[in-house]
Amino acid sequence: MISPKLVEVGRHLNIELITNSELQQLTGEPGHFTAHVRENPRYIDVVKCTSCGECAQVCPVDLKDGYNEGLSIKKAVFKQYAQAIPGAFAINKRGTAPCRSSCPAHVSVQGFIALIQQGKYREALALFKQDHPFPGVCGRVCHHPCEGVCTRNQVDDTLSIQYLHRFLADRDLESEQPYLPEKKAERPEKVAIIGAGPAGLTCAYYLAIEGYQVTVYEKLPVLGGMLTVGI
Ligand code: SF4
Ligand code: SF4
Repeated sequence: MISPKLVEVGRHLNIELITNSELQQLTGEPGHFTAHVRENPRYIDVVKCTSCGECAQVCPVDLKDGYNEGLSIKKAVFKQYAQAIPGAFAINKRGTAPCRSSCPAHVSVQGFIALIQQGKYREALALFKQDHPFPGVCGRVCHHPCEGVCTRNQVDDTLSIQYLHRFLADRDLESEQPYLPEKKAERPEKVAIIGAGPAGLTCAYYLAIEGYQVTVYEKLPVLGGMLTVGI
């Protein structure tokens, strides 16, 4: 076990431990080295992480564990081993998935599908609605650019991203208690929104979540604008 040595090294005043990193280039000679180190993002604040592991318990993404030569499974949020230094978790993430990049609302497609796969439908819907309040409407009318770039296509077929969030919305609407997001504490500011079309309702939805007192004005007798009367 190298952990006792690592602890000793970590405490040494002349040594800086740079973890989650790769040495890209080393030039020079003894006493005058120049090192180029690429430090990978950890996505977790080392100072705040208490290493309790609760994040790994709820993480829906399973990956092959490179530390064990891929023979076991680890979560996307992980700590390499119990005595790892620093004693904090990190998230294994390879940039932004093409589906998310191409979605005009930047929906966390990978995230909500991973939650569906675990049967966590309500959590999946809540995650979707963090970026987009109309999973049911766009589950029907979006031209789904996300599916055009889905890399799963290179293995067998594109994932039916649009129908998956349509399913989430329909399931929720048929449930006894449809999902309602939690609102932050009420703020004193009042906001008037002119027009109850998709843009107006989206603004109203997210401002209300932030605690603003929102009133939406609409000239038609129905809400939804183009969603109701145009398509
Ligand atoms: S189908 Fe859904 S996830 Fe895909 S681009 Fe449209 S809104 Fe975004
Ligand atoms: S497989 Fe398709 S849906 Fe899943 S993350 Fe990749 S691009 Fe997105």
